[in-house]
Amino acid sequence: MASAKVTINSPSGLKITIPTGIFIDNEFRPSLQGGQTFESVNPATGKTLCSIARGSVSDVDAAVASSRKAYKTVWGKKSTPGQRAAALFKWAELIEANAQELAELESLDNGKPVWMARDFDVADSAGCIRYYAGLADKIEGKTIEQVEGEKLAFTRVEPLGVCGQIIPWNYPIQMFAWKVGPALAAGNCVVMKPAEQTPLSALRLAELSIEAGFPPGVLNVVNGFGADVGDAIAKHMDIDKVAFTGSTATGRRIMASAAASNLKKVTLELGGKSPVVVFESADLDQAVNWATMGILYNQGQDCTAGSRLFVQDSIYEKFMPKLIANFKAHKIGDPFHPDTFQGSQVSKVQQERILSYIEAGKAEGAKVEVGGGAWTEGAGEFANGFFVQPTIFSGCKKGMKIVDEEIFGPVLAVAKFSTEEEAIQLANDTAYGLGAGVFSNDSRQCMRMASALEAGTVWVNSYVALSNAVPFGGMKASGMGRELGVDAIKEYTQVKAVHYNY
Ligand code: NAD
Repeated sequence: MASAKVTINSPSGLKITIPTGIFIDNEFRPSLQGGQTFESVNPATGKTLCSIARGSVSDVDAAVASSRKAYKTVWGKKSTPGQRAAALFKWAELIEANAQELAELESLDNGKPVWMARDFDVADSAGCIRYYAGLADKIEGKTIEQVEGEKLAFTRVEPLGVCGQIIPWNYPIQMFAWKVGPALAAGNCVVMKPAEQTPLSALRLAELSIEAGFPPGVLNVVNGFGADVGDAIAKHMDIDKVAFTGSTATGRRIMASAAASNLKKVTLELGGKSPVVVFESADLDQAVNWATMGILYNQGQDCTAGSRLFVQDSIYEKFMPKLIANFKAHKIGDPFHPDTFQGSQVSKVQQERILSYIEAGKAEGAKVEVGGGAWTEGAGEFANGFFVQPTIFSGCKKGMKIVDEEIFGPVLAVAKFSTEEEAIQLANDTAYGLGAGVFSNDSRQCMRMASALEAGTVWVNSYVALSNAVPFGGMKASGMGRELGVDAIKEYTQVKAVHYNY
């Protein structure tokens, strides 16, 4: 049986105490299936951190019943936008007040550098919750005058009801915030399933949500595995919408389950194989820095990772040495060291998956320019961690696995192009359409590229940075629906038309 709370001794000296149970009705309790548990591992050391309650189908049922009750009695149309905003504003404040602890927890569970988790993941998450707190009282319908045969029609913008949210392990806190922020602001109740690799920060966020003043049942968190908790959410007959971020394969399964159950609404934020195109007029140092950031940020475990780099042939020989030097300059290792840029991959499974892609790249004839294996040399106390060397392959072509498939690691596939037309063709030659980058000092060329690239987000002379106010999502096989910005509110509301004959 999961103990009620566990204290983790962080390498910084901080003692981090978190609840370990399933979070339902503002209480943490053991799993309904025999109090079963699973272990959370620190991927930088390979050592177990703690045991967590492992949810089951019965726990999902209990969470949905609790959320439905809260929706009908205290949230949804029984709450005011002001009440919802107040709880969200307070929660954002509490997240900020606990930023260091949350960042260390996130790093211990995920392997990412603490400073990155604190200054980006946690800071952006508090910002996201605050952004949606501010939007809660700005959700508006419209009036349509002089409707034929009647006097007036107007629209009501209403919440959907109970939303199931299934998130991945690459940005556990941020994905949590992106999903619950708009859902709760719009009046929905949430059953959240964190990834089994990174269950910890969600438990602390849930604990803080009680302090923020959310009534019981508005937010429930069921940790556990995809095959039972995730699948139960996707198939549940009393969940109105499922929002998912993760792999394309799981996204397909979730959509099929939603269609075969109660036709719940679905939004999917799936994988990518995003292109970055560098033209000869570009500021090369700027392009090198962003292209490096684009693939190494978050250990390459980013759905928009700029994993295919196309460099115009006229600048290729000047560009590559700069890029290789920049890769070598990024410090890998101890996630608690302030100089570390690259921590460990999230798990042994993920590390092995990335290494198998690296071997495939070598076997298929691409040239290793830097990296090309696990990081072990000089690893010291991190020798059992799941690290991968920042790796560049050149001479990459369509048909190679490292060019066609999402690796989700610090592995960059580079190729040359000669004309803008060829760059567009190469960049768009993928089933995915999440992100794309273009580097050029020709503003007309930038505008042409922004139009031609088939991606939900195009960065011009930058990469990977997002804003809570700007919509984010995929084209093609990268998903459907948008997160962030005002657009996300639309994904968590439905429009009712009222014809009024007065
Ligand atoms: P995954 O898609 O299987 O897992 C993501 C989430 O979905 C987790 O919470 C998981 O428990 C849940 N899940 C798994 N199976 C489910 C099911 N049948 N029904 C409902 N929920 C289910 O991803 P993974 O196996 O952890 O990683 C595999 C690959 O997916 C990665 O290498 C990467 O390429 C990709 N990925 C992409 C993202 C992204 O942000 N786009 C995030 C994580 C992983």
